[in-house]
Amino acid sequence: MTQTLKTIFVSGSSRGIGRCIAETLSEEGYTVVVHGRSHSDRLDHTAKTIESAGHAVRQLVFDVSDRRKTRTVLESDIAQNGMYYGVVLNAGITRDNAFPFMGEQDWDDVMSTNLDGFYNVLNPLVEPMILSKQGGRIVVMTSVAGILGNRGQVNYSGAKAGLIGASKALGLELARKKITVNCVAPGLIESDMTSEIDPKSILPLIPMRRMGKPSDVAGVVSFLVSDKGSYVTRQTISVDGGLT
Ligand code: NDP
Repeated sequence: MTQTLKTIFVSGSSRGIGRCIAETLSEEGYTVVVHGRSHSDRLDHTAKTIESAGHAVRQLVFDVSDRRKTRTVLESDIAQNGMYYGVVLNAGITRDNAFPFMGEQDWDDVMSTNLDGFYNVLNPLVEPMILSKQGGRIVVMTSVAGILGNRGQVNYSGAKAGLIGASKALGLELARKKITVNCVAPGLIESDMTSEIDPKSILPLIPMRRMGKPSDVAGVVSFLVSDKGSYVTRQTISVDGGLT
């Protein structure tokens, strides 16, 4: 066990990649704050799995696109429990369609969750993180779509590319405070988000000829959050089996 006193907030950890990140960090000795858009059995399940392994965990529920609610819940949690050492900004959605047929709502939902979520979650947390004078870690989940662009994902690719720019800028502002800001860019990872993709159509494009597992992503996040990652900032690390 390492770093037993550090708390990490993982947005979108009710399932998929976020859940695996939360469980991994918890096993490594961090106190984890898990989160979902709404109260759900799957969020309870994540928290109970962590708790039953004997680790401390708290649950938060809010929609990251709801700016006011996000601020209220986060400020109240840190007022009661103290500031987080790390934030993993993982919550995200897709609403795919060829661009001519992409509806306004699909554009707005993807932007407000994936890109506005950066402001909504991090803006209330960054000043307390600086004032805590412990340094800190911010890890932002982007995507290969934000690096290469992806057909049918103009909205998602734009939001994920925006996260890379925002993270590089925030990393400049926070470097002297010993707070690192990095992006992780997964390729195709097994989760609800990719459950409808036929692996046969996609595997020939992946040099390693397999989809990634949530644990492939969690391992990189774990490194970036750890002391071993203390001199790594403003980077985007792809976890994509060689796709990019
Ligand atoms: P899932 O769809 O499996 O899980 C999404 C998570 O985000 C859930 O916990 C969900 O909560 C939460 N979430 C979604 N929208 C909101 C919202 N508005 N407010 C709060 N929480 C929200 O996704 P993955 O695990 O596959 O993806 C995790 C991240 O990784 C995303 O940012 C995604 O874009 C990125 N990514 C995934 C890839 C993949 O191949 N799977 C590839 C590249 C990037 P709830 O359960 O309550 O709905």
